[in-house]
Amino acid sequence: MGTRSTIDRPTAGVSPPHAAALVADLLGWFAGARRDLPWRRDRDAYRVWISESMLQQTRVEAAVPYFERFVARFPTVAVLAAAPVEAVLAAWSGLGYYRRARSLHAAARAVVERHGGEVPSEREALLALPGIGPYTAGAVASIAFDRPEPLVDGNVARVLSRLFALDAPSDSARFRAESWRLAGELVRVAAPHGPGDWNQALMELGAVVCVPREPRCLACPVKAHCRAIADGRTSELPVPKRRAQPIDVEVHVALVRDGDRVLVAQRPPGGRMEGLWELPAIEPSGARRLHAAEWPGDGALIAGDEIGSVAHSITCHRIRARIFAARWTASDTAPPLRMARADELGALGLTGLASKALRASSTEAVQRESRSARRTRDACAGRVR
Ligand code: SF4
Repeated sequence: MGTRSTIDRPTAGVSPPHAAALVADLLGWFAGARRDLPWRRDRDAYRVWISESMLQQTRVEAAVPYFERFVARFPTVAVLAAAPVEAVLAAWSGLGYYRRARSLHAAARAVVERHGGEVPSEREALLALPGIGPYTAGAVASIAFDRPEPLVDGNVARVLSRLFALDAPSDSARFRAESWRLAGELVRVAAPHGPGDWNQALMELGAVVCVPREPRCLACPVKAHCRAIADGRTSELPVPKRRAQPIDVEVHVALVRDGDRVLVAQRPPGGRMEGLWELPAIEPSGARRLHAAEWPGDGALIAGDEIGSVAHSITCHRIRARIFAARWTASDTAPPLRMARADELGALGLTGLASKALRASSTEAVQRESRSARRTRDACAGRVR
């Protein structure tokens, strides 16, 4: 292990010659290495905003098809603002953290009302929009408008922690403050060369070279400026966060099929994943609560055999969902329940867990068990568990 340095030492700052050489080397590399991504084909602020919002949810490769579908469905801020929120949630379905999709919709409306439909270029005006935080404001201001505003995401934080040997745990306030301070210093040095390119170059380096495990230091364009490699500390930086213990949750899911229709329930207002659709689900008593405890449609849902299970994670919850073949015994459904055709499900906005359970239930084995469960449903007793 090499010599330890700390962020309190002067070397954690950026000396002007060091910063200038670092900027030149990284931008030189980025000019030849930048990936061709759909949101990089122009600097349209709306597209930058949508892409950066998605990239906070998922990896670049996974974000591309979501991005292309989203901007095809909502090509401008005005179209997004005029759309029903359910359509936005449906287009976001699968990316997770649906509050971000709701905020995106609310912010589009605010852009139309306050800025005539033009995404503002100033950081403060961006920060005043619903759901836009320092990262997204920095991304839009720098990439779309070439303003010298910093940004720090996971990739940038990791790169800076190694370049400058930041010793604070990566979830600490001190680490965040140092990362933003360094990012701010560097983007000002890079300003004459294009702050948007600089910020993207930092993120790109973190995504393809200075990766979390086994960074590709030999191929790194800025290895000459890196404290971590000089100190032999690339494998120990950034200092890991103190992880919260995952919470195990068991959920029982009822699968009611009627021909090509499936019984689904809309998540209630004010809670997690508000407005999205899921398969009717409850948690057996004793489990930590993640969903509402009570299943609507009192008494009409009759559960049968267990036909499968899926695992799913939401933030710190580790969910095991047991799927039960079930039947709906009432003549009709009322909100929040409805029978939805298979071809409607995509447009409804399903929770990730519901999508997984439906995929699992469409496997041949589960369908077979489901048919078997229907044949023997007279033997089924009691409400869904
Ligand atoms: S030399 Fe290695 S640790 Fe340092 S920035 Fe480059 S890839 Fe990251």
